[in-house]
Amino acid sequence: MLELRDQDYVIQRVRAGVLEQGTMDTLREAGVGARMDREGAVHEGIELRYDGEGHRIDFAGLCGRAIMVYGQQEVVKDLIERRRADGLPLLFEVDDVEVDPDTPKVAFTHDGERHELTAKAIAGCDGFHGVCRDTIAHALTERTREYPFGWLGILAEVAPSTHELIYASHERGFALHSLRSPELSRLYIQVDPHDDIENWPDERIWEELHTRFEKPGWTLQEGPIVEKGITPMRSFLVEPMQHERLYLAGDAAHIVPPTGAKGLNLAVADVRVLAQALTDWLRGGDASGLDSYSEKCLARVWRVQHFSWWMTSMLHRFPEEDEIQQRLQRAELDYVTSSRAASTMLAENYTGLPYGWEAA
Ligand SMILES: Cc1cc2nc3c(=O)[nH]c(=O)nc-3n(C[C@H](O)[C@H](O)[C@H](O)COP(=O)(O)OP(=O)(O)OC[C@H]3O[C@@H](n4cnc5c(N)ncnc54)[C@H](O)[C@@H]3O)c2cc1C
Repeated sequence: MLELRDQDYVIQRVRAGVLEQGTMDTLREAGVGARMDREGAVHEGIELRYDGEGHRIDFAGLCGRAIMVYGQQEVVKDLIERRRADGLPLLFEVDDVEVDPDTPKVAFTHDGERHELTAKAIAGCDGFHGVCRDTIAHALTERTREYPFGWLGILAEVAPSTHELIYASHERGFALHSLRSPELSRLYIQVDPHDDIENWPDERIWEELHTRFEKPGWTLQEGPIVEKGITPMRSFLVEPMQHERLYLAGDAAHIVPPTGAKGLNLAVADVRVLAQALTDWLRGGDASGLDSYSEKCLARVWRVQHFSWWMTSMLHRFPEEDEIQQRLQRAELDYVTSSRAASTMLAENYTGLPYGWEAA
């Protein structure tokens, strides 16, 4: 297992925080779920807020499933600890990684020395900016869509002002109140993707958050902002997700806009399929799982792409949108918050479709 960055960097990198039911189950089955179960917070619903009113989507009542709020960096810490406890190799700060999917082989530099690994298969889990996808680009078809907005995200040292995530649709744009711990809140606002974070002093961010979350009788608590940044939003994927004996997983193969809280969960779903396929091949000589890896993963990837696009389209303001588009968004929100069938669709996708649903 090779990682470009140092260990401190990867365990401090704050990103996703919502684990869907299948991700929780996978971590438990892999023996890395104990701290998540102790320290994570189970959430059985979210709030959709618009026109100063909140509408709860009751996951437990609608589909009998839930999510866990537990930071991605905590998952990474648990995985590193387990890898070390198992005495398996894990190298940080590797450089100049080169991948050959045919042989297959990986060359890299570590501690100033060049190394070469020969392997039976390579898992390309090196994220959107890694080298694996580029190495096999000639064999892949890329599909991409950029959104005309990004998310300005902050981490604030203040107790969350809510027990469940709040997704707010406001005429000034989308806002999300997420949670990290009893002492840490994660909040986002929709901004221009080309905006500079320097244009957003802390007071301006809080002012915008207060406006977009406004609801009579509810107050947003402020606290010191300890991290802030702007992330662009895109839908992206490659087909297929494999070439020769190189298998892409996670952000290396696809990116979803974060509105559905799916990026990390989709990465875990890929890895689950890949782990089983590799086990069947290496232990039992059965390569059918590897051969169909891409096809199996892409069924979920497209479903999740659709859900993430749908949540994004329903909740964000688009530049130059006309009145018809605004009324259509409003009609969708009214439907989702009033119809049991529509809110069940949201609940089922947000908490994550069960593994194997596509074969049912
Ligand atoms: C600001 C931000 C907020 C996010 N919020 C959410 C959220 O709320 N919910 C959600 O579900 N998702 C969210 N995501 C997305 C989520 O974090 C990703 O989908 C998830 O990290 C994908 O996991 P991955 O393992 O595929 O890629 P990564 O986590 O990116 O891991 C890839 C690793 O490969 C390493 N690497 C890169 N190149 C090389 C190389 N050449 N050699 C060796 N190693 C290499 C990288 O350093 C990195 O550690 C967010 C992302 C960002 C950036």
